[in-house]
Amino acid sequence: LIVTRFAPNPNGPLHLGNARAAILSHEYSRKYNGKFILRFEDTNPENVQPEMYEFIKRDLRWLGLSWDEEYIQSDRLHIYYDFLEKLLEEGKAYVCTCEVEKFRELRDKMEACQCRLLSPQEDLQRWNRMLAGDFLQGEAVVRIKTDLKHPNPAVRDWPACRIVEQPHPRVGGKFRVWPLYNFSVSIDDHEMGITHILRGKEHEVNEQRQRTLYEMLGWSYPVAIQYGRLSIPGASLSKTETVRAVKEGKLSGYDDVRLATLAALRRRGISPVALKKIILKVGLTLVDSSLSWETIYA
Ligand code: GLU
Repeated sequence: LIVTRFAPNPNGPLHLGNARAAILSHEYSRKYNGKFILRFEDTNPENVQPEMYEFIKRDLRWLGLSWDEEYIQSDRLHIYYDFLEKLLEEGKAYVCTCEVEKFRELRDKMEACQCRLLSPQEDLQRWNRMLAGDFLQGEAVVRIKTDLKHPNPAVRDWPACRIVEQPHPRVGGKFRVWPLYNFSVSIDDHEMGITHILRGKEHEVNEQRQRTLYEMLGWSYPVAIQYGRLSIPGASLSKTETVRAVKEGKLSGYDDVRLATLAALRRRGISPVALKKIILKVGLTLVDSSLSWETIYA
């Protein structure tokens, strides 16, 4: 069974670039009678825009996409906590309280920091203190014990979770420990039985990080294809910029026609069928491509 997913961050409206992951993943699973999952990745409380969960679903429906299962990561913290605890217990992860610069210095020399040498018992104690609020934001993270000699320093002992004091816009202030993208995505892709991952090439190093966890847990990594960037000359595809400009009143809304959001394209009168055709035509090409308004209109 082919299982794919679209995993948006609810931090801004979908634009044509994000819609590409959705359209390709949906199409691929449908082509093989598989399953398509929608998963909101909202473990960064700072960035969550609460109206975006519905907004994104409306856009997906407009595109003609349907999903078989839907998950929200902020409902699944107990699952990530269980795995973190297990990894700590087994000495496969550790709580690191080093300053980031200090950690990086050692990491770049392929050396372990003091925290890495603690016993699982001490780690579990530190973990419970993290949960209890004994550490402030930035004072402790859990790191996955990778090969310290991994050729890419950015992969060595990557962080799996951190402390965030700001309440989450959706689930409030009851959690202080939040998984980081690479951890929650790894657990979820495995737990949800994802077989194929289609996403942008900004995730290439993330794939390497995620693979270290899969190997450690004896799981097999899905087929992952990271395609090249898609740009529209003259249109900003930055979600953060878009959200800011709307909040500051510089744009009339998420469907302001100067944007390349799906809402704006819809307002311009562009049909979802046309968008789907364009995206499928660009396909999974690994090189960066650019799409002009003229092409879209044509
Ligand atoms: N939430 C991630 C993003 O939007 C998903 C990346 C992935 O598909 O793993 O970039």
